[in-house]
Amino acid sequence: MEIRARSILNRSAIGDYCINPYVGCQHACIYCYADYYTRLMGYRGEWGSYVHAKINAPDLLLKEIRKKKKGVVYLSSLTDPYQPVEVNYRLTRRILEILMSYKWPIIIQTKSSSIIRDIDVITKFDNVNVGFTMITLDEDIRRRFEPFSSPINARIDALMRLKEEKVRTFVFIGPILPGTDLDELRELIMTVKDYADLIYFDRLNLKPGVASRIDRALSEIWKPDWLSNLNIYYVNLKKSLIKLLEGERIKYAFVY
Ligand code: SF4
Repeated sequence: MEIRARSILNRSAIGDYCINPYVGCQHACIYCYADYYTRLMGYRGEWGSYVHAKINAPDLLLKEIRKKKKGVVYLSSLTDPYQPVEVNYRLTRRILEILMSYKWPIIIQTKSSSIIRDIDVITKFDNVNVGFTMITLDEDIRRRFEPFSSPINARIDALMRLKEEKVRTFVFIGPILPGTDLDELRELIMTVKDYADLIYFDRLNLKPGVASRIDRALSEIWKPDWLSNLNIYYVNLKKSLIKLLEGERIKYAFVY
């Protein structure tokens, strides 16, 4: 569905501004808490089943960018800027072209390898940081928790391609799923570390609705009682990860 937004360059906790070219997200991640915020805005429907394209986003941006103080723009806080509909709508691409022409710094975060389509624009930015979210190397887990996102190998290839072009990159390992063991995380870290300037770690954010979805997905594979001792799990995991990372030349940050 196509909609017309009232504003597009909005204040953000990540960077100075965020731009969400779409409402909803076709990647349909089980752990996504954008669903919660999108519901607060009045949208209904099962998360992942709808996406609304803000077709006036580039025009709005052209108007707003002239009036606002330059700052870092994050794409995107409540949707994935490279979800499948972007192939046809090209809203993210048109937004990037505008931001690039005004020389605004950007952070892009995605679970899609289709970002490579826009590598020509991305490499023209003076200040750009591109991140891929990856919670596992296991494709079975990826399909269960992020069903319509790009396969992990495709994301890694895209990350490597961007690094080849000397783009600043990060990998966001989050949310770490309860039950993920340290060896799995070590393997993921070692796989991406040479292509990421920074690795972030995050835990589950249990906004209303998330716990029941996770419960259904997790109970099919492991950890039926994942919710009890969740905080202790993350505290202990953090300690172990810090120990693991100490000996490595890896820049990292915990979001929790
Ligand atoms: S890609 Fe991001 S916004 Fe989209 S469903 Fe997954 S977590 Fe939510």
